[in-house]
Amino acid sequence: MEIVAPFKEIIDAIKASGGDAFKYCYQCGLCDTVCPWNKVRNFSMRRIVREATFGLTEIESEDIWRCTTCGKCPQVCPRNVKQIESGVALRRIATEYDVFPHAVQPIRRVSASLRAEGNPFSEDRSKRAKWAQGLSVRPFVEGMEFLYSPGCYLSYDPRAQKIARATVEILNKAGVDFGILGTGESCCGESIRKTGDEALYKTLARQNIKAFVERGVKKILVSSPHCYHTFRNEYPEFMVHFEVVHISQLIFSLIAEGRLELTKEYGKTVTYHDPCYLGRHNGVYDEPREALKKIPGLELTEMPESRKNSFCCGGGGGRIWMETPKGERFSDLRLDQAVGVGAQVLATSCPYCITNFEDSRLNREDGEAIEIRDITEIIREAI
Ligand code: SF4
Ligand code: SF4
Repeated sequence: MEIVAPFKEIIDAIKASGGDAFKYCYQCGLCDTVCPWNKVRNFSMRRIVREATFGLTEIESEDIWRCTTCGKCPQVCPRNVKQIESGVALRRIATEYDVFPHAVQPIRRVSASLRAEGNPFSEDRSKRAKWAQGLSVRPFVEGMEFLYSPGCYLSYDPRAQKIARATVEILNKAGVDFGILGTGESCCGESIRKTGDEALYKTLARQNIKAFVERGVKKILVSSPHCYHTFRNEYPEFMVHFEVVHISQLIFSLIAEGRLELTKEYGKTVTYHDPCYLGRHNGVYDEPREALKKIPGLELTEMPESRKNSFCCGGGGGRIWMETPKGERFSDLRLDQAVGVGAQVLATSCPYCITNFEDSRLNREDGEAIEIRDITEIIREAI
């Protein structure tokens, strides 16, 4: 067992990396009662905090990489221990020492790809706008209302590209003035930051900010809650401010303004999964639900864990790139919940959730019984 050092120096290193708030913990254990990991295996944020306080962190253990940054435990912590930021501080140290346990090793490939091509898939930057070929999508020029930033998954992942195409159809139908950056866009950097690679996050953020400022971007429309979170809440650390709108918010406004008419029947029972980074981290709960409720024939049903108690899909905090064994995947449980409330469609609004849910669906014997859809895909069918 490699222990960094039960010394003051490691406590100082944790503090210097942003983990100072660990010292406020009084070990009540409330964090562990809400953590989704404890539905699939033993895991204790309380213990991680305790060990870090005494400089006893095992940086080679997978435990410091488990937190999906879902945001549930900070909601209940009575001492404001900032488990997410403090947990990322431990990953910063592991990243600095280049210590990655087996399940976390894909991060090395992801980092190299982000550095070289601006995306996590080892795909060419030159292919970033290929998804838009044949669609009515223009390059962004100054004066357009929105820069549409689809993000990495919608640009490259074949399943998620369907969401980008549905989005474009909706925007064009409503007459929204938008353009894209294409090869000028890089990964927003949110997830790699949560793995502790602060330097790479800053590189990506600076690339995007330079591209936005040079082209006169004022409003950014995003599909991923991770882009939403980082453009809105983290890029201001670079002394810039852009108005950031999530597609679910824009769709809600377009319907309310009468610019988007939902005329076609969608006779299915749908349940909506709140992505952590849209819901808990940014408080967007109502717009996606209100938009879905406007669709003729659609019946919206709620899962027991919804809104601020939503159950994490397992993809945040860089976990989307790590290996999670069968039996420990949160998304499998979420599909059980969706099927349990009689939903024919599990709707969400995040490419990580869609990726994890589609994987879980494929592994179910009754996988045909439920569809996984982004809300844009449902709205597109109704216009
Ligand atoms: S909820 Fe907060 S105070 Fe309680 S054990 Fe967890 S980190 Fe410590
Ligand atoms: S943020 Fe979520 S996954 Fe991370 S320790 Fe807290 S409850 Fe668990």
